[in-house]
Amino acid sequence: MLNRKKIKSFVGLISRMLGLCFFIREIIFRDKNIIICYHDPAPEVFRKHLRYLVKRYNIITLDSLVNAIAQKEALFSPKSLVITLDDGWKGNYKLLEAIKEFNIPVIIFLTSGVVNTNRKFWWQAGFLGFEKLKLCQNQERLAMLREKTGYEPEKEYATPQALNLQEINEMADYVSFQSHGCFHPVLTKCDDNECLGEIKTSKESLEMILKKEINHFAYPNGNYSRREITYLKQTGYRSAVSLDSGWNDTNSDQFCLKRIWICDDASINELAGRLNGIFGCLRNFYERFKGLLK
Ligand SMILES: [Zn+2]
Repeated sequence: MLNRKKIKSFVGLISRMLGLCFFIREIIFRDKNIIICYHDPAPEVFRKHLRYLVKRYNIITLDSLVNAIAQKEALFSPKSLVITLDDGWKGNYKLLEAIKEFNIPVIIFLTSGVVNTNRKFWWQAGFLGFEKLKLCQNQERLAMLREKTGYEPEKEYATPQALNLQEINEMADYVSFQSHGCFHPVLTKCDDNECLGEIKTSKESLEMILKKEINHFAYPNGNYSRREITYLKQTGYRSAVSLDSGWNDTNSDQFCLKRIWICDDASINELAGRLNGIFGCLRNFYERFKGLLK
């Protein structure tokens, strides 16, 4: 039985065999940058992906990308790729060996209110249909979670879901830790105080525990508006990454950097297809085709 994952792998395989991935990477988007986004990949999957990526891309830091954009550098590193992971999952610690082995820069965006505690990521509280909660105003979402699951942002549970300080410190020589907010609400559903608090407090508390400046932010769930950008600039961030799919170049807005979301269990063929925007193109084509039939 063909499922979506198998179809994606198959499409990626065909694209690779036809040389489409090579053509897109080496010719069309050679001078553009890709930022990829993982969450909690298994070490063996991550290692396989890194093996594929290091042969085909120049893995760079987010700092060097942001510097190039700020200075409008004509010479953008060709085939540059930034590797990011969101949330700060406990399983990220197991990726350290692969990160050391490939000697590549990796950025982990930490949810500052959850790391080093036994608190839960809110969408893990056991509420079915959490996707719908993302559409609710922040207080409405919290009230619903409290009522249905007993979840409170600061409630401690039996097992930790996120990295602890010891793990973060062990990884800190190899990984750049940056901010993903305090408790991961959808910022565009927060009021002004909640939104500013998430942006400001996460920076301050991470700077305190890491003893390093926090310069970059990943929008929880990828959502942002002009207000979030204003607050980020006010509080001293240098950039922010979204989940808008696509490539970046020297004309990109530092606070609206695009990222390509990679499934944590993607096969190499699926990874290749995602990196080259093939699924996005097919989806657009399908949507247009559907529109024509209406
Ligand atoms: Zn997240």
